[in-house]
Amino acid sequence: MDAKAKRQVQIAMPSMGDEEWQAVREPLLSGWLTQGPKVAAFERAFADRHQVRHALATTSCTTALHLALAALDIGPGDEVIVPSFTWVATTNAVLYCGGTPVLCDVDRRTNNIDPNSVAKKLSSRTKAIIPVHLFGLCADMDALRAVLPNHVKIIEDAACAAGATYRGASAGTLGDAACFSFHPRKSITTGEGGMLTTSNSEWAVRARRLREHAMNVSAAERHISTLPPPELYLERGFNYRMTDLQAAVGLVQARKLPEMVARRRQLAAIYGAELDERGGLRCVADPPYGTSNFQSYWVELGQGARIDREGLLAHLASRGISARRGIMAAHLQPAYATHPHIALPVTERLTDNTLILPLYHELTDDDQARVIDAVLEAVG
Ligand SMILES: *Cc1c(COP(=O)(O)O)cnc(C)c1O
Repeated sequence: MDAKAKRQVQIAMPSMGDEEWQAVREPLLSGWLTQGPKVAAFERAFADRHQVRHALATTSCTTALHLALAALDIGPGDEVIVPSFTWVATTNAVLYCGGTPVLCDVDRRTNNIDPNSVAKKLSSRTKAIIPVHLFGLCADMDALRAVLPNHVKIIEDAACAAGATYRGASAGTLGDAACFSFHPRKSITTGEGGMLTTSNSEWAVRARRLREHAMNVSAAERHISTLPPPELYLERGFNYRMTDLQAAVGLVQARKLPEMVARRRQLAAIYGAELDERGGLRCVADPPYGTSNFQSYWVELGQGARIDREGLLAHLASRGISARRGIMAAHLQPAYATHPHIALPVTERLTDNTLILPLYHELTDDDQARVIDAVLEAVG
């Protein structure tokens, strides 16, 4: 076997360079390590890029979701509709607030929230909904709005969706608030990290306060005053501050976002051309209403496929290629076993039959060709 054939093709890899390395020097040497000038600059840059009024950096998308729900006063007795086909962070955030996640089904074409299923789950207690832009493909927001009463607040789970668009607008500007992730698996990363965006100033003020134990003066404000005023803790809050080290990296990554999305879309187009409708495969593609950032590239093995998902994963592993099962259904996880039993047929089908292929900024054409060959070998 030659060296090339033996090298493992990873499922995902962050793209970090000299600029990020240089960027962390300043906060390291300045002594200002946590939420300070770099976080403020990252928030401004992110808000401007997304054309929203406010952006608040957090420790993760999970904590951004928690903050958003807390700022909306979600609590016991409140229902929040969430697709079961998501990373379990989305549903967990509702539980952190004492609210009830009401799990709904998804649309098979997009992997995203199905407005018909939502319509069946609405009740007088529905206070909010969290459409997920799964793997960077936007949910159909107009179709969703058409079934929602006006008072139901929309929080986008845009964890995967930095750089995705919906009818020309950025993901993260399509609801009342949105939450992004900068985990290394996402399109841009700060190691861990998240961002809450909203154009509602009242919520932004409250969320900003809650992020820092609801102090009436921020730590940064206290730091720059010679005689700090005594602080007050206005309500129960959290510590969800991002560090300035992370924000310095985030500023560089945010600048690179268009270029990262362009490369991902190029790789996705090649996968689509080579694999779609071959041997029972169905590949993710742009929806009619927008552009995906292809944060993850998924394929579904249709009923006619001659190999099942586990078989294909094993075959790829034998060829030195890391692929992954898609998303797990929250309602089938042990953590949700006490929830009322519900049948979500599309979610269950996708959970068993989708997988994710390697796709990242620095995936080479040669490595992608190896993946394609290996998949075609298995599906025939
Ligand atoms: C990654 C992800 C999250 C959680 O993001 P973290 O930053 O790791 O907390 C939430 N929702 C979805 C859909 C995700 O893919």
